[in-house]
Amino acid sequence: MKEFDLIVVGGGPSGIFTAITAAENGLKVALLEKNKRIGNKILVAGSGKCNLTHTGKSKEFLDKYGENGKFLKEALNKFSPDMLKEFFGKNGLPLVLVEDSGKFFPETFSSLDVVALLKKKLESLKVQILENIKIENIEKIDEEFLIFTKEDTFKCKNLSLATGGKSYPGVGTTGDGYIMAKSLGHKIIPPKPALSPIFVKDYFFEELSGISFQNVKITLWKENKKIIEKNGPVLLTHTNFSGPGILDNSRFVENDSELEINYIGQTYEKFNKDIIEETNKDGKKILKKYLHQYFLPERFIKIILSKAEIKEDLKLAELSKEKREELSKLLTSNRMEITKVGNFEMAMVTKGGVALEEVNPKTMESKKISGLYLVGEILDIDGDTGGYNIQAACSMGVLAGKSMKKKER
Ligand SMILES: Cc1cc2nc3c(=O)[nH]c(=O)nc-3n(C[C@H](O)[C@H](O)[C@H](O)COP(=O)(O)OP(=O)(O)OC[C@H]3O[C@@H](n4cnc5c(N)ncnc54)[C@H](O)[C@@H]3O)c2cc1C
Repeated sequence: MKEFDLIVVGGGPSGIFTAITAAENGLKVALLEKNKRIGNKILVAGSGKCNLTHTGKSKEFLDKYGENGKFLKEALNKFSPDMLKEFFGKNGLPLVLVEDSGKFFPETFSSLDVVALLKKKLESLKVQILENIKIENIEKIDEEFLIFTKEDTFKCKNLSLATGGKSYPGVGTTGDGYIMAKSLGHKIIPPKPALSPIFVKDYFFEELSGISFQNVKITLWKENKKIIEKNGPVLLTHTNFSGPGILDNSRFVENDSELEINYIGQTYEKFNKDIIEETNKDGKKILKKYLHQYFLPERFIKIILSKAEIKEDLKLAELSKEKREELSKLLTSNRMEITKVGNFEMAMVTKGGVALEEVNPKTMESKKISGLYLVGEILDIDGDTGGYNIQAACSMGVLAGKSMKKKER
């Protein structure tokens, strides 16, 4: 039986940072990962460029995680975005800010470099990295955890579950951690896909796949009440709405909610009023040309006109009140029935997970089982796109690592 002060299950950012911090504090640490290599999700992050964190003051930062954000206060204090930047800089891979987006990436824009750096750091601290090893079962007997794999049994007094969520199962995150946490007595908030495309009934942009809008207003409605409104980029695909603005909003989709996108940055009323004024000034103007002032892609205008059953060569003076209002609605405030959010295969993160009230936010230790630490996406916390999820995972890992004590064996 192999014995350690700390065993971390899961080699994502939260597990890696737990291991690094605990090893720096003198603990004998093993990091167990079921994939052939650690950091698989880091490799796909930011399309292989790895968006590690974001700009922003701490209050704004916490808001990006919604109502559960306050749980992260201490973690982000102990390991803030500036500290994360400093960590990578000191270890030879400075982060750079991509202006306008607020996102920080490694200067090489390579996730491979991030994983290589983290692996080197773990090795320098003598953390035993055991890859290709799947945890089958965990038991706690007296003060010790026993961890069973097909080949081996491990023993430790501190155990960190850092197995991530259920999204993107192809990279190893298949929800194993929920089963482990549940078997140890923890409550699991039902996991749901988040940061995922939104599908609507009667989607009519199939032919416009690839067209994107830089910063449009996206609103979610339920029973005529606004759930949330967030600005951001929207990408039209063959079957759904995607892009960072949509993914961020997808975290808040409820049953029977509706999606509204304002493509022109003007209200329904203002668009209507302006078009009436222009008709009075120059009724011979072709409507399609009039719409060019909103910098809409030509193919998009065509589809919108066709949807409203308006001829492409129609003059402003020929536009009926009914058609004008329909057009205005389609461009500013068309509410579309949401049929689903992309499934776990498509989702970047998981909403739900281990209930936060059972975990101490000052230490990341379970309130139910002493010596058990829960970090990262396994918990019921998720953030917007932009580096918030990796930052949260790293911060929770550091906080857990700092909170553990080397216990007598
Ligand atoms: C396509 C994609 C792009 C993303 N891009 C970004 C981005 O640019 N910026 C950002 O901030 N966030 C991004 N995210 C989200 C971010 O990657 C995750 O939120 C973050 O990695 C979570 O860290 P974690 O350590 O909690 O879990 P994970 O990174 O998911 O790691 C968990 C690890 O545990 C292992 N594991 C699971 N079960 C077991 C078991 N039974 N035994 C042993 N090991 C196990 C898994 O194989 C995995 O390696 C992206 C996600 C996806 C899917």
